[in-house]
Amino acid sequence: MQLTNLKVAEQQVNFRQAVLQGLGEQQGLFFPDALPQLDLEPLWQLDLVARSQKILGALLADELGQELVDTLVANAFNFTAPLRPASAKQYCLELFHGPTLAFKDFGARFLAQCLSAFAGEQPLTILTATSGDTGAAVADAFYGLDNINVVVLYPDGGISELQEKLFCTLGGNIRTIAVAGSFDDCQQLVKQAFSDPALKAQFGLTSANSINIARLLAQICYYFEALAQLPEAERANAVFAVPSGNFGNLTAGLIAKAMGAPIKRFVAATNSNDTVPRYLQTGQWQPLAVYNTLSNAMDVTSPNNWPRIEALCQRQQWPLNDLAGERVDEAQTAAQLQWLFEQDYLSEPHAAVASAALSRQLQQDEVGVFLGTAHPAKFAGAVESILQIELPLPQALADANAKPLLSDNMAVDFSALKAYLQQHLS
Ligand SMILES: *Cc1c(COP(=O)(O)O)cnc(C)c1O
Repeated sequence: MQLTNLKVAEQQVNFRQAVLQGLGEQQGLFFPDALPQLDLEPLWQLDLVARSQKILGALLADELGQELVDTLVANAFNFTAPLRPASAKQYCLELFHGPTLAFKDFGARFLAQCLSAFAGEQPLTILTATSGDTGAAVADAFYGLDNINVVVLYPDGGISELQEKLFCTLGGNIRTIAVAGSFDDCQQLVKQAFSDPALKAQFGLTSANSINIARLLAQICYYFEALAQLPEAERANAVFAVPSGNFGNLTAGLIAKAMGAPIKRFVAATNSNDTVPRYLQTGQWQPLAVYNTLSNAMDVTSPNNWPRIEALCQRQQWPLNDLAGERVDEAQTAAQLQWLFEQDYLSEPHAAVASAALSRQLQQDEVGVFLGTAHPAKFAGAVESILQIELPLPQALADANAKPLLSDNMAVDFSALKAYLQQHLS
């Protein structure tokens, strides 16, 4: 597969290079030059893994060989994505049955498999900062892989106890550091490390952040999974609502459509951080200050995947206005969560944003699919207070909760981070 840097058109790379580099020159995003058209009929009968092997094979087999693609997919997608009826006209595609109970497991696990396969002789070190969920998905995805060390920095006392338990109890090749500072301090330390060429080379420092193309490609697969599970008569009328923050998830959906997925249209659903819905309405790109919401994984005002969406729509000659944008505020999010519960469907704030957007958008002849991006128990505080119920702890969280924390502590001090890497990884 050939990819081009959307900012620096002269920079062309293959998939391997794009995955290892993450970002291109001038912070440009890599995007595939061409998207193959899939032969749809044979896909619907297959299970998630077999179908995903075909989909990703169509993109990557020319470079990696089908056999390697098959292995990467089988290792990454070791959990299911059921489509559940949530109301008379809406389904939820539940993407939270992976090890860290959020859809980020799909992308993180596939990226981990790719990096492990591409690492070669010199071990790679994934260095990342987290304010919670991404760290868990990344740490878990890389746990036990050969040739890869993971170092996760997080603000000491700045994440929930349960979140901490989820990724700071693994041990092995996963090292976690509680930094005596804020999330921004953690990110600053990581940035400093990446701008130190000697350090970067010595440890093979690599980021595993959300703009990596491997993550996006993995996410294409579950749109086909939703279509495969829909009753055949409804397949052509499906509208997908995507609860969006950095818009990686929606980018993957649009790529799926470009490859032939029969998705009628998309709704880009945001919380009050509504840069994109406003842009779709006014044509003005005006990010405002970040507003803290119940759906905090979507509290993003400068979504970093947006250039990919613009590029793809332009290439497909899809008017941007075909995308519906919906902003769902806090009261509407809570009301939708309550309404879903009355329909006998237990959800959480992120998915509720997308469901609310569907409730506004769906036409008579359409059926809606909203993406369930996180397990309700991950946002138990909000869910319990809105619905006035108590949630049981899912097994994965209960297991992690029983284990001792293995984190080290560190001051906000770059020389301390360097010394730590020298001591533990060389
Ligand atoms: C990351 C995240 C989102 C937003 O996904 P993007 O691809 O960044 O738009 C939505 N919901 C949850 C639970 C998330 O963790």
